[in-house]
Amino acid sequence: MDSRQLYQEMILDHNKRPRNFGRLPQPSHHAEGVNPLCGDHIELTLDVHEGVIREIAFEGESCAICKASASMMTGQVRGKRLEDARALVQAFRDMAVGGLHPASGPHELGRLTVFSGVRDLPSRVKCAVLPWHTLQAAVSGEALATTEGVQDPQF
Ligand code: ZN
Repeated sequence: MDSRQLYQEMILDHNKRPRNFGRLPQPSHHAEGVNPLCGDHIELTLDVHEGVIREIAFEGESCAICKASASMMTGQVRGKRLEDARALVQAFRDMAVGGLHPASGPHELGRLTVFSGVRDLPSRVKCAVLPWHTLQAAVSGEALATTEGVQDPQF
């Protein structure tokens, strides 16, 4: 299976069965993310204890790419220390926006490297990155993340 097929499979799978979909009853951290370009609107709730993300959930209305990205993101950062989660946000952004080749990218991205496929669809980069911006906002104590004003990748 080539990377493009794998990408399609992952998007389909995570849309059919989104992981960690919902809302935590008493989150310690919370943020909303909006991507006006596409109409994506997601909400993240986190339970952070002693610097570790114990639980994380997302909900909202979004396109398939955003939903799959949020689903995979929550799975990847759950159980991680905040600083490791922040490093992962940076790595994902570098890959999706900066066009970092997945093979040369940080190995901790793991299966997330399938999202390097969005580089072929420049208008969808913000969809893939939105959940990560929202996570960054939540752990930084900001209530809202928006992709508006985010520099578009150069092609
Ligand atoms: Zn979208």
